[in-house]
Amino acid sequence: MTTHWSRPATKALRADGLRIAELDTSGTPGFKGGKKAGKELLAERTGVLSDLQEKLYANGRSGDPRNVLLVLQGMDTAGKGGIVRHVIGSVDPQGVDHAAFGPPTTEEKRHHFLWRIRKQLPRGGQLGVFDRSHYEDVLVVRVHNLVAPEVWGKRYAEINAFERELVDEGATLVKVAMFVSLDEQKNRLRERLERPDKFWKFSPNDIEERAFWPSYQQAYQVMLDRTSTDCAPWYVLPADNKWFSRLAVTELLINALEGLKLDWPAARFDVAEQTRLLDRS
Ligand code: AMP
Ligand code: MG
Repeated sequence: MTTHWSRPATKALRADGLRIAELDTSGTPGFKGGKKAGKELLAERTGVLSDLQEKLYANGRSGDPRNVLLVLQGMDTAGKGGIVRHVIGSVDPQGVDHAAFGPPTTEEKRHHFLWRIRKQLPRGGQLGVFDRSHYEDVLVVRVHNLVAPEVWGKRYAEINAFERELVDEGATLVKVAMFVSLDEQKNRLRERLERPDKFWKFSPNDIEERAFWPSYQQAYQVMLDRTSTDCAPWYVLPADNKWFSRLAVTELLINALEGLKLDWPAARFDVAEQTRLLDRS
């Protein structure tokens, strides 16, 4: 099957130097096919992702400390939940470690901002998923001045050092920032108000936050500029097309898992002998 990728997603979506003010959120960078081709390819690539994730899990069970951590950031309605449901939902849940981050609790506020993040880090063999993350501490916190500028200002360097440490310990980070247009967000919020099966996703706060859109754009830009590192780069995902978001994240995860060059763990027993014993049992 033709892939329709003219450039791999890892190259087409790299944040390096990208200005999000100029981003076409309805674009499909690197992908030349349309929705139908994208969906067909996704069905095929989902199988590849699932096989690779099973290998990661199997190796983790055999003591391999390596893991993959998908970090999803994006404004409300950007489609983070859809990625969790449709992309992560296609792999074996035993090997998935999912965490969503909301406003910090009173106890969490008493600790350093990375305290609650560290508690949710995936173990060896796990595919970790962060639906929002430590990056909220330089996004919503910066936009709404929830802590002093001297405090959030130091966090970019702290985050880079933290992620360096994770990578040194065996993590592969896949950081994806999802962007929809202000109009597309309005459509998606309207859908949440029109469909009783979507009321649960709506928060009145989402409408108030729309007024802060330019501040968020700026905070996201600084985040990309300061925390897209060689060991933990950001990928920028135009997210108006859900089929493209799902396909692109699938490709980024496949790439991360392929980079681990995983084999099935070797048997820690004598296969021939165990087969003989089984035959006799
Ligand atoms: P949702 O992802 O729709 O469940 O919303 C979670 C909410 O938690 C969002 O409004 C985030 O901005 C907010 N949130 C997440 N992390 C933090 C944080 N560190 N400080 C303040 N608000 C946060
Ligand atoms: Mg929300």
